[in-house]
Amino acid sequence: MDKTVYMKEALKEAYKAYQKGETPIGAVIVKDGEIIARAHNLTETIKDSTAHAEILAIREASGKIGGWRLISCELYVTMEPCMMCSGAIINSRIKKVVIGARHIKNSILEKQHSYMINYLGSNNIDVEFGVLEDRCSNMLRMFFKSLRNKRVDKNTNSIDGSVKNSIEDR
Ligand SMILES: [Zn+2]
Repeated sequence: MDKTVYMKEALKEAYKAYQKGETPIGAVIVKDGEIIARAHNLTETIKDSTAHAEILAIREASGKIGGWRLISCELYVTMEPCMMCSGAIINSRIKKVVIGARHIKNSILEKQHSYMINYLGSNNIDVEFGVLEDRCSNMLRMFFKSLRNKRVDKNTNSIDGSVKNSIEDR
């Protein structure tokens, strides 16, 4: 199936996170063309620094499969994984990671980006960037913009509309 179909499902998860006031990142895990797990970032909601979308999706997929080895599974995630999640991806034996947005750029994250690519690549994990990148980046950009605006005024309706556009076909 078209990769954008799965990334749209990951974006729907990201939007759930957005609605809870969480950084909007979503992930789905696909095995043999079927989505077996879906999750979104819940770090604030459950007060757990490890509750990233990728980790929660890996846990759900392992429960579904009845084992921790996610061989032949693919992970779709709306933003590139952090180092913790990259480690979990390697340990889970996921074979491919499809990524929407890159991290918002700064020099520290650029270093992390190169390290993550090498880390996953040297463990024979396929990494693909740029699937629905604009929509994934837009959701994150609008989220951070709404956080800044909330400090100034409460008028964030236009931002909410723009975030919602990210999960709808135009
Ligand atoms: Zn992470």
